[in-house]
Amino acid sequence: MARSNRSRSRRGDQRRRTSKHAAEHVPLDVERLMGGARRVETRRGIQYTVQPIRPERAQKTCICPGCGRDVGIGVAHVAVWRADSIMGDESALADRRHWHAPCWRSA
Ligand SMILES: [Zn+2]
Repeated sequence: MARSNRSRSRRGDQRRRTSKHAAEHVPLDVERLMGGARRVETRRGIQYTVQPIRPERAQKTCICPGCGRDVGIGVAHVAVWRADSIMGDESALADRRHWHAPCWRSA
C-alpha cells in the first residue's frame, strides 16, 4: 500500500512538472458524465463514493471485485472509489472499481 502510494505520488509530481496543458484542464464532472445520483457510503470505517452507472454508460467489461465475475457491457452497476483519498478525488477516481450493485451492497 505504502509503496503504491509513493509511486503514484511520484507520477503525479512528474505530470505537474512536465504538463503544458494545465490551463486546459477541465474539472471533472463525473455526475454529468455517468448519470445518476452519487452517494457516499461507509465500509469498515472507510468512506467510499458510490456512483450508479446507467446501462448505456457501461461500455466496457470490468471484473467485479465482489464476485470476481464480469460486469458486462450494458449492465447497470456501481462505480466505487475512496471518498477520503489522501491523493485527492481525481486519483481515487482513476482507481475506481466497478461492482454489481448487489455485490457492493453485501460487501
Ligand atoms: Zn459481482
